[in-house]
Amino acid sequence: MSDNFPKPRKHLGQHFLTDPRILARIADALHATPQDTVVEIGPGRGALTEQLLQRAGRVVAIEIDRVLAGRLRDAYADEPRLSIIDKDVLEVSLAEAAGTDEFLLAGNVPYNITTPILFHALRRVRPRRAIYLVQREVAERVVAAAGSEAYGALSANVQAIARAEILFKVAAGSFTPPPKVESAILKIEPLDTPVINADEEEPFRVMVQGAFSMRRKQMARVVRELWGGGAEDAAALLGQAEINPMLRPEVLSPHDFARLLRARR
Ligand code: SAM
Repeated sequence: MSDNFPKPRKHLGQHFLTDPRILARIADALHATPQDTVVEIGPGRGALTEQLLQRAGRVVAIEIDRVLAGRLRDAYADEPRLSIIDKDVLEVSLAEAAGTDEFLLAGNVPYNITTPILFHALRRVRPRRAIYLVQREVAERVVAAAGSEAYGALSANVQAIARAEILFKVAAGSFTPPPKVESAILKIEPLDTPVINADEEEPFRVMVQGAFSMRRKQMARVVRELWGGGAEDAAALLGQAEINPMLRPEVLSPHDFARLLRARR
């Protein structure tokens, strides 16, 4: 694409990745083949888009910035394998955008809405594999084990559905303009047998978010605050779920939370 782009818009998290080796590594990590459709979140100036087009059969790029979306459309006017949707990704069904339930997802995502994007992409129909460039701190939260400092609602929700892995770190100097934080490449792949089933996903999310809003309280108290009832009800529920009432949410695994949800139903 040509230069002379408009000034990066800070509120849209516009930090453009310029290191060609990192762009190639992100695209490689997706393992896209010519049979694959890739949805890209926030193509920006199209640096990652180009790498994705070299590997995948089709790319559907969702970009909220109309000016950049228009520039991309012009630059790839002769490329029928690229479609551009100029919308907020959080308002787009990813599978509908892909036009198929079998798709991959990639994105150097805007850092101010990373967590909502991760949750959005966990909803059904979800991508077969997702590769994100996110703040290192968020990537560490996603993969954190129960009981560790970084473990929280995001970790439990992702890990109940998917396997998450940090592939490598990316220095701030690889972007224009450089962000204030370090970044990392995060891979998320749905589990063949998720910890929770489709009907449980929404109540699980609500329960886990609620529990972590009280992460320093003991589960005996957390359960009462979440669902009402007396101390005996809470003890019975936790007993059924085989959870020690003295534990705090921060040490409960996704499996523990799933048992708690099922005990209540
Ligand atoms: N992919 C490009 C790259 O690697 O250089 C750009 C990455 S930049 C960190 C994030 C991109 O997401 C920007 O182009 C920004 O305009 C776009 N964006 C921000 N909020 C968005 C949203 N809600 N929906 C879709 N795109 C968004």
